[in-house]
This record gives sequence, structure tokens and C-alpha cells, in this order.
Amino acid sequence: MARYTGPNCKQCRREGCKLYLKGERCTNGKCAFDHRSTAPGQHGAARKKIGEYGKHLREKQKARRYYGVLEKQFRHYYDMAEKMDGITGTNLLILLERRLDNVVYRMGMAESRKEARQLVLHAHFTLNGKKVTIPSILIKAGDVIAVKESSKENAKIKGLAEELATKTSPKWIEKDAANLTAKIVALPAREDIDFEFDEQLIVELYSK
Ligand code: SF4
Repeated sequence: MARYTGPNCKQCRREGCKLYLKGERCTNGKCAFDHRSTAPGQHGAARKKIGEYGKHLREKQKARRYYGVLEKQFRHYYDMAEKMDGITGTNLLILLERRLDNVVYRMGMAESRKEARQLVLHAHFTLNGKKVTIPSILIKAGDVIAVKESSKENAKIKGLAEELATKTSPKWIEKDAANLTAKIVALPAREDIDFEFDEQLIVELYSK
């Protein structure tokens, strides 16, 4: 399964904003972007004003990187969003938000989406009682995600579980911190996505 393996912080510098890809490090004063926000590369500091196409492209890259999705898969989500009822840009963000790795991150069981993806790949979760190892699975309303019984003793999981009760989850996820489970009470809505995106720019980019 293809994934981005380059440096995370360079992605934030490229997009000109914090994408919160590294968990605690993003907020504890050690964030690379807080110290150096210029674009990476030899001429990064001298970056010129971006044009119309660049603006659209950067917005797409920002969303893609925020959710940790490669281009081909992102385009696939866009195609799906276009075929759905409603506003394409909103549909696209909601599809990304419904990915299992994002849900595990949102429920507070991982420091970042990247870590959530890793935990899912290592089969630490069940979906509706069945083992699941596919981070891109799209959750549905009524789904139940749980830490697998045998994974509860895993040191990494134990550490994350201890902090679970202190973390807030969006209202569409009903979390049971004591039992390390979460129920999807509704599909996420656009207003539940708390990161700033101008999804219309992405739609315009792909519609060209
Ligand atoms: Fe981005 Fe987090 Fe790195 Fe800061 S620490 S640059 S927010 S990935």
C-alpha cells in the first residue's frame, strides 16, 4: 500500500500552514513550522506570490496532506464525491473524514493520522466486531470501532488508552473510553471539520 514517506514538517512548510501531522510535537513548542515557516528548498524563503492555478493546487495538496492520502486515491475520492448527491467539495471532505484512520485519530486513539494508520495496519482494531486492517475503509453511521481484546496489553495502546478519557472527540463519535470503543452516531457534517479548507478551490482545480 503506497504512502508518503518523506519528512512531515516539510509538508507544512510547503503548504504555508500547520497541518498537525506529528501529534504532540505540533503543539509543544517544538514545531518546525513555528521556527521556520518558509517553503522548503534553496529558494523557499524567496517564494513569490502564487498565481490562480497555484492557489487551487495548494488547496488540494493541503487537504491531501492533512488526511495523508496520495494523489491517485485523492482523485478517487473526488470522483466519488462528484457522483454523490449534494455539494461536491463538501462530499469530498466528508469522505476523507470517514476514513477509518481518521476516525481512530478523531476518537483519540492516536497522536496523528499517520500513527492511526499504523495502528490499523497492525490490526489493533475491530470494526463491528471483526478484525480490520484497511485504514481507508469508510465508516458508516452505526459502526462500532474497538481496540482488539488482545491489543489492550500492547504498550503503545496502553499509553494511548490512558489518555483517551482526557481527549475530546467530535459529536458524531460516541466514545467509551473505559472500554476503548467508539460508536459512529452519525456521519460527520461539514461543520464538524474544524480545519480551514476552501474545498471549492479543489473542485475548480479538478473541473478545469
Ligand atoms: Fe507541521 Fe507538526 Fe511538523 Fe509543526 S511539528 S511543522 S505542525 S508536522
